[in-house]
Amino acid sequence: MKIRMKPIVEMDGDEMTRILWQEIKETLLLPYVELETEYYDLGLPNRDRTDDQVTLEAARAIKRLQVGVKCATITPNAQRMEEYGLKQLWKSPNATIRAELDGTVFRTPILTDRIKPYVRGWKKPITIARHAYGDVYKAVELPVPGPGTAELVFKGEAGETRQEVYSFKGPGVLQAMHNREDSIEAFARSCFAYALQEKQDLWFSAKDTISKIYDGRFREVFQRIFDAEFAEAFRQAGITYFYTLIDDAVARVIRSEGGFIWATKNYDGDVMSDMISTAFGSLAMMTSVLVSPHGWYEYEAAHGTVTRHYRKWQQGEKTSTNPIATIFAWTGALRRRGELDGNKALAEFSAGLENACLDTIEAGAMTKDLAALCGDPDVRSLNTGDFLQEIRGRLEAGLQA
Ligand code: NAP
Ligand code: MG
Repeated sequence: MKIRMKPIVEMDGDEMTRILWQEIKETLLLPYVELETEYYDLGLPNRDRTDDQVTLEAARAIKRLQVGVKCATITPNAQRMEEYGLKQLWKSPNATIRAELDGTVFRTPILTDRIKPYVRGWKKPITIARHAYGDVYKAVELPVPGPGTAELVFKGEAGETRQEVYSFKGPGVLQAMHNREDSIEAFARSCFAYALQEKQDLWFSAKDTISKIYDGRFREVFQRIFDAEFAEAFRQAGITYFYTLIDDAVARVIRSEGGFIWATKNYDGDVMSDMISTAFGSLAMMTSVLVSPHGWYEYEAAHGTVTRHYRKWQQGEKTSTNPIATIFAWTGALRRRGELDGNKALAEFSAGLENACLDTIEAGAMTKDLAALCGDPDVRSLNTGDFLQEIRGRLEAGLQA
């Protein structure tokens, strides 16, 4: 008997990950689950055909069904415009969906004993959350040609406020950034909600000793929302929230065992998420979930469409593309669906499939990228199809047990 479920939003994508998507469903999901999805084809040709309406519709469907799973998609550039004969340079689907859900992206590495993190002390994953609005990404800048005075001016309903920035004696550069309180609040709520969902401590770091007003506001908003809305739930879940300076956080992260969520401002998250994923081993083993402050979840792999492998596949070659992060996007979404509906069988199936993936790697069967990282002599480097079959074998054994 297949496991039954309520529907989730399924967003198909591009290139090698689109091929993986189909293989994962056929090999690991459809034989066991009566898969109920509302399907949206976010592959680039269909986005172009629908004037990108399909992306917006998918995002709205997530608001309705609360859970979505997304395949990697091409973010078009000039070269893609030519390759696909696009009507225009469509926005990144992830940006469209994030704007619609007002969410925060959490990235978590998948750990196995075979692949050792570069930082020896790390035993558990570190999840990084990046605020995705404002700061230097929405800054305005000016070149300063020569002597003169720069001022920051705010014109509000109650009049004007001015602040001298600097009195230049010669040429230089100038920048102004902003953030919005509602965006900081949504960020904070997403972080607290996700920490509760994962039952992990939440750290937030900024530099409020130097940036007393700007970073200070981030710190205040986090503390205010925590005290008013989450302190009691955190206490009951046995988890903590703490704020620390970004430089102290970096030192603590390296010395830690892992197993917590680290919330960062936009730029810190941009830089630190690349550091964390590299230090844990591989982008192909990194999952990503977009969490809205309203409790909508969208799961995906952190990597892209793996174009280089797709070119080989197009020429008839079998590739050894790592499907793990995409499988974990599915198991994340199915587990969430199961938890929301009290569907124990579905949640257990997700855990069983994740275990089957990890057991397969522990047994020494893996894709080429992982084999290269682990370097053990007993490792078998498999193509994607054979690797999926190995996982299926262990999944079946687990389901029977
Ligand atoms: P990528 O698809 O992440 O791949 C970069 C390289 O990383 C690959 O060539 C491969 O290295 C390795 N890699 C990534 N995932 C792998 C996997 N699952 N298994 C094995 N190796 C893996 O990044 P990209 O080539 O820069 O981008 C390709 C397209 O993806 C672009 O059009 C971009 O817009 C899109 N993209 C989408 C998302 C998203 O939807 N979230 C995110 C990022 C990029 P080797 O070639 O050395 O084997
Ligand atoms: Mg970056």
